[in-house]
Amino acid sequence: MQRFKGKVVLVTGAGSGIGRASATRLAAEGGSVFCVDLDGDAAAATVAEIAREGGSASAWVCDVGNESSVCEAIEACIEAYGSLFGLVNMAGILRFDDTQELQTEQWQKIIDVNLTGTMFLCRAALPHLLETKGSIVNAASTAALSGLPCGLAYSASKGGVLAMTRSIAVEYAKRGVRANCICPGDINTGMTDKLTFPETMDYKLMPRIMSLSGAKDPEVVAGVIAMLVSDDGAHITGEDIRVDGGTLS
Ligand code: NAD
Repeated sequence: MQRFKGKVVLVTGAGSGIGRASATRLAAEGGSVFCVDLDGDAAAATVAEIAREGGSASAWVCDVGNESSVCEAIEACIEAYGSLFGLVNMAGILRFDDTQELQTEQWQKIIDVNLTGTMFLCRAALPHLLETKGSIVNAASTAALSGLPCGLAYSASKGGVLAMTRSIAVEYAKRGVRANCICPGDINTGMTDKLTFPETMDYKLMPRIMSLSGAKDPEVVAGVIAMLVSDDGAHITGEDIRVDGGTLS
């Protein structure tokens, strides 16, 4: 399948996990992928992996929570490739805190990266997506749909991403730009590897966020993202697709 031949897709969080799997999948299907991450070495490693497979990609360091850094990334992408067809916002951070102990600074950091960062990218990319009748895929989470114990800031950020994506979808539907969310759950990535929990965490609540079929690798999400970005998703907008092994079913 070469669904992205001649098309440019910008992927944030491309240095790890779902972002990395998405970047390699989109490139394998012929896309030119602009790989954005805060961690430049990680983004470069994704680009090297894509190049080994004969694909086209370049790396760019950007803090999605920083407005000017995001504008520079979009400008650099347009300068490098001339257009933008897809925006895949996968950069994100997660930490667990007892709600009563949650520091305002921690709350703000998660909102800045996960929610405001996603907004910065969408806003800066939209003029270019209007030209190509392109498509946005944002990372929400099962935490946007169901309670996540000790995940107050993360849940709020992902609920915001979901609501914001639906607003973009409605506002831009008639102008040909689509916007959707994926809601992953229990995917093996750098994010899930390094989690720590507060002492007050009640682990009996955790099975609610474990998938019925066991944790899966990020490629299972990348395939759904590729479908949503591509013309196979032409009549899908404002949708959120759970990729959670049935957890919330
Ligand atoms: P990951 O930690 O493996 O990858 C996240 C990437 O984002 C990293 O490469 C990191 O360097 C980058 N990043 C972090 N802060 C950044 C910033 N300020 N600017 C630019 N890049 C930044 O995580 P993942 O599991 O692949 O998660 C991808 C997305 O999917 C996230 O938004 C996450 O919230 C969401 N998600 C993941 C799961 C899961 O089970 N893994 C479940 C639900 C939602």
